[in-house]
Amino acid sequence: MPWPPRSAYLHIPFCHRRCFYCDFPVVPLGDRAGAASGQSGAASIAAYLALLQREIALAPEGPPLSTIYFGGGTPSLLLPAQVSDLLAELAGHFGLAPGAEITLELDPASFDRARLEAYLAAGVNRVSLGGQSFDDAVLASLGRRHRRSDLLAATRWLAQARLQGGLASWSLDLIQAVPGQTTELWREQLRLAIAVGAPHLSVYDLSIEPGTVFAWREQRGELSLPDADLAADLMELTAAELAAAGYGHYEVSNYARPGHASRHNRVYWSGAGWWGFGMGATAAPRGQRQARPRTREAYQHWLEQQGAKAARAPAPEPDAWLEDQLIVGLRRREGIRPLDLLIAAGLAPPRALQALGDLRRRLGLELQRGLVLLEGPRWRLSDPAGLALSNAVLRECLLWWECWRGDAVAGPASPAAPAPPMTGQPATGG
Ligand code: SF4
Repeated sequence: MPWPPRSAYLHIPFCHRRCFYCDFPVVPLGDRAGAASGQSGAASIAAYLALLQREIALAPEGPPLSTIYFGGGTPSLLLPAQVSDLLAELAGHFGLAPGAEITLELDPASFDRARLEAYLAAGVNRVSLGGQSFDDAVLASLGRRHRRSDLLAATRWLAQARLQGGLASWSLDLIQAVPGQTTELWREQLRLAIAVGAPHLSVYDLSIEPGTVFAWREQRGELSLPDADLAADLMELTAAELAAAGYGHYEVSNYARPGHASRHNRVYWSGAGWWGFGMGATAAPRGQRQARPRTREAYQHWLEQQGAKAARAPAPEPDAWLEDQLIVGLRRREGIRPLDLLIAAGLAPPRALQALGDLRRRLGLELQRGLVLLEGPRWRLSDPAGLALSNAVLRECLLWWECWRGDAVAGPASPAAPAPPMTGQPATGG
């Protein structure tokens, strides 16, 4: 695990309102809220940013940052000057590497062209747009605040900003397998996403999370979701349409035109560590994930307790570390080198070889079905079949590791042993 990290995630929890499927750590402020002085919500935002700055100041020192990601929530509720202040805090504490990738999540209908330009002037050079759908009926059913016309305007501004050189890249989030979706309706969504020129697409399956409006509707039998076969067909359709349009499938949910893969996302999946700041943020400074409390009050209390403690990153636990490596590693197109991982997790080489043979037997069915491909020391999921059924393969891997974890007692062998070099990050809400 490379140490110290060269990437930072900042969680901006404010949203106008909570979408029907969302269980992210967010603070709904109301449809008319904003950060400008006098707007409702302005004081809450300012107070939270002060906490965030304090957490950054408490972090250990580290090398200049190569990637920064403002996720949420709706970071476009922040004023450009507030984004600039946070960047200055990070730059003052860690420094910024030349060419650092600085991503801001934007929500259609929460910004305009002038605001976009002000964010770019503040230092942002990559945008992740929470579009989700071009279909007004779907957007309404998801509880989203924006509509198709807002999304189209936002994509136009982003494409123009890129042409003019102010924006290095941008990404569009889409949600597939929504209630009532058919392959034809979904094909149309994909074609629109390609037509608006997004250089990067993140395509997520709708998942029903406990405590959400959707979970409540599902319990009442009011949601008609695509069944597993249709969901798999939709995923395969996504892979095929986007491949034909020139997008590479570099992670289960992520597609990019050449040169537009997210450097920050790759840090999450490569096993390299990252700093995480803010309510509900996950950090993994030494590879082991640590989640901050998910409410403002609990986060503030936690921060008060940290003091000098926050300046010490705990040593990684090999069990959790290997689970993370399996889960994130197999989601990447390039896959994992399992023998290296087992040795790095503390198994002696002969035991590691034995464990590897056992994993291979456990995955017999998946290998037979061509879901997992063994390419020398590297194992990866096939595209699209393996990536589409990644959860089933990952479950087998984790069950296998349950049987072997007691052997991993020595801890990771070398700080840099298993992870591929960091090229440049978890999906967030938005
Ligand atoms: S989905 Fe995004 S915009 Fe909607 S409540 Fe969650 S974080 Fe906010």
